[in-house]
Amino acid sequence: MGSVPAEEMAVDFGGLVGDLREVYESDRTRDLEWRESQLRGLVRLLEEEEEAIFDVLREDLGKHRGEAFRDEVGVLKKSVVDKLQNLKNWAAPEKAHTPLVAFPATAMVVPEPLGVVLIFSCWNLPIGLALEPLSGALAAGNAVVVKPSELAPSTSAFLAANIPKYLDAKAVKVVEGGADVGEKLMEHRWDKVLFTGSSRVGRLIMTKAAKHLTPVALELGSKCPCIIDWLDSNRDSQVAVNRIIGAKWSTCSGQACIAIDYVLVEEEFAPILIEMLKSTLKRFFTKTEYMARILNEKHFKRLSGLLADRRVAASVVHGGHFNPKTLSIEPTLLLNPPLDSDIMTEEIFGPLLPIITVKKIEDSITFLKSKPKPLAIYAFTRNEELKRRIIDETSSGSVTFNDAIVQYGLDSIPFGGVGHSGFGQYHGKYSFEMFSHKKAVLKRSFLIEFMFRYPPWDESKIGFLRRVYRFDYISLFFALIGLRR
Ligand code: NAD
Repeated sequence: MGSVPAEEMAVDFGGLVGDLREVYESDRTRDLEWRESQLRGLVRLLEEEEEAIFDVLREDLGKHRGEAFRDEVGVLKKSVVDKLQNLKNWAAPEKAHTPLVAFPATAMVVPEPLGVVLIFSCWNLPIGLALEPLSGALAAGNAVVVKPSELAPSTSAFLAANIPKYLDAKAVKVVEGGADVGEKLMEHRWDKVLFTGSSRVGRLIMTKAAKHLTPVALELGSKCPCIIDWLDSNRDSQVAVNRIIGAKWSTCSGQACIAIDYVLVEEEFAPILIEMLKSTLKRFFTKTEYMARILNEKHFKRLSGLLADRRVAASVVHGGHFNPKTLSIEPTLLLNPPLDSDIMTEEIFGPLLPIITVKKIEDSITFLKSKPKPLAIYAFTRNEELKRRIIDETSSGSVTFNDAIVQYGLDSIPFGGVGHSGFGQYHGKYSFEMFSHKKAVLKRSFLIEFMFRYPPWDESKIGFLRRVYRFDYISLFFALIGLRR
């Protein structure tokens, strides 16, 4: 059995961890062929169960199959195939330089699996946020427990039922359940924990991990800003607007950690931008089913609560209609809501988009620097100086120019936060590295022995050491043969 009913395991997670450790210690998961077979299993799961995945994503979040394929199934399959193609290279020892003074010697960096690892995933991309880290952990040769979010129950049940069918059920377990189960899991020693979710729970995870000195990676949320510079060409402006809508309303209705949270724009461009957003929204969302719904009543209330502040409600320039029956919220634009209101101090995680005006677009850099470091910064601009300043003067998990959210799909760049948006990076090779230890291996021979490295000390020995650390081999040679002091 690879999936574990919460009630059953809550009493005996020690047994679960023990079983996994036994499997890991049998060395089965280290074997490259085993790792490849697991990745192939994941690809088969994504291919053969595609329709079932679409179904559970619709049930949990009202995601359209187009969005579900783009953001979860398709992008993930591409990423697992990339791992299959590159695994041998990634897992191979990497030769490292050794200084001449160590001759004869060889040095290597050997990636090794960490052991038994735990992955907490979140509900908004409940397939991708569980299986992308899982693919990295398996590629790296670990035994794994996946704890899906209880808030996407159909997806959680799907993972629990299907992972054992496609993967080694003794080495990969799915544990379903909520906070209580998460807390119980964290009582045990893991070799790494990757947590995706809120900073509130992230803090608890870190505190519990400290007891066992378990390393953690935290993938948290933030307010991701988007700078929109004045774009001379109408076409460029339209492309920007398409991409902004894609990164706000078409990605789980803005319930995504790297969704655009708010926009910064010059005052005179704001009315044009608003008109373009309105007309494009109308063209894109011709059916309500093209936008995911809000996760649950609690989040629906949280989002409607953001507009309870009268100053915020007064800033709505488009949308603002909430339907509690269908848990849907109309794409909503707000112009200059107060900066001290909740909508501008908390992560929105929903389909509300504040537009904040600045006098000059360069002022947005000062604005960003006054805020915590976000997971992503976006900027639509042709101004190379502005791009340079954003890269040099701000800090964030990623910066994307002239697009948004698509950085998530690139296997060649790391995904993760910095500062309050978390730490630890994955995706592509970085997912492999997330769950590997880079072991330093140095092989020396008995051939040459320098006695100046040992006591009893005298000044001449220190002189030899100085030459060694300066890599001053000529001087060292002459000193060794007695021609120099
Ligand atoms: P959450 O923090 O409540 O839950 C995340 C996971 O932790 C779930 O599996 C949950 O069951 C588990 N959990 C909850 N309480 C726990 C406890 N006390 N002990 C152990 N485990 C516990 O998730 P949320 O608040 O609904 O998630 C939304 C947040 O996640 C947003 O801030 C969003 O930006 C962030 N997020 C970040 C990323 C990323 O990749 N950086 C991706 C998605 C979501």
